[in-house]
Amino acid sequence: MDYSGKDVKNAAVVWLGPNGPKGLESARYRRLLTGRNRYATEQLGAAAAIGPALIGGAGRAGEPAAPAAPGGGRGGIPIPAADFTTVQHLDTPIPPSVTATDQFFEFLFSHAPTMYDELKRKAAAQEALPSFRLAGVTIAFNIDADYQIVRTQLTQNVVATIDGSDPRLRETYVAFGAHYDHVGYAEGEVARGDNGARRAGAPGRVTPGHEDDRIWNGADDDGSGTVAMMALAKAFAAAPHPKRSLLFVWHAGEERGLLGSRYFADYPTIAMDKIVAQLNIDMIGRNRDDKASESNTVYLVGSDRISTELHELNRAANTSLPNPLSLNYEFNDPTKCRRSSSRS
Ligand SMILES: [Zn+2]
Repeated sequence: MDYSGKDVKNAAVVWLGPNGPKGLESARYRRLLTGRNRYATEQLGAAAAIGPALIGGAGRAGEPAAPAAPGGGRGGIPIPAADFTTVQHLDTPIPPSVTATDQFFEFLFSHAPTMYDELKRKAAAQEALPSFRLAGVTIAFNIDADYQIVRTQLTQNVVATIDGSDPRLRETYVAFGAHYDHVGYAEGEVARGDNGARRAGAPGRVTPGHEDDRIWNGADDDGSGTVAMMALAKAFAAAPHPKRSLLFVWHAGEERGLLGSRYFADYPTIAMDKIVAQLNIDMIGRNRDDKASESNTVYLVGSDRISTELHELNRAANTSLPNPLSLNYEFNDPTKCRRSSSRS
């Protein structure tokens, strides 16, 4: 919404108003608001994202590992833990995503069409903010990117291919993906809240009646997708091969932060431009709420937002089945379900 009609590629995006404009208070918009920085840098190609520091947050500024922030960034947004796990080269530059102080914004907007005082007042009142490009302003970030490797852990994606039968189309691939990890077992204790029982340090709820079960191996998420893909690969290998080649990737480290799929995207075994479509399968082991009325429902995510052609193909293929599945697009809404699309 904020970005419609704007090209922010290679520009630093500055946003104000941590609570967003009036009328966007619901939880679904909150998710969009909290993802503003990443959306700007990762989706829109911004060179940096700068937001205000939250007043009164539990800041830990001043620690040696704190990321550099223009104007000091001493306002109180909790600084992420210094430790992180990555499958990327540690020297890969990533766009800075930082907070800044009033002092910095006053200086930055000192020749702007609207002065910072006025912008800050409007933001505090959750009024709509004017949008403008600051001409002739260059922002330089001096970032201390020293690091020390504390631990190296090894894992593997599992990759398989089936050659296509058409001499021309076999150079191109339809890819299938599922993640074969979950989170193992949970060491934390069970605590009861308004939202049901949860085990400390483990995602999701504890199934009633299974409070003693510490195993968190993810039969559904995503053992179900993993074995479904094995069945697909076996069936495709045994039958006459389709015209295009097929690529199957069982991703590792999904629950640790999409590590396997990130690695595959950075170091693909097949040139990316030869992959015409990718279908990711996650959590197909049960109905959403285990109701019989939900059987044979498929929740499609991405779909027409990524490719109208694939969207139409899905629908046509489904309609051609003797017993079509019911296709549900609820989670295709980008404001729902914690950004299912970018997580998959
Ligand atoms: Zn999953």
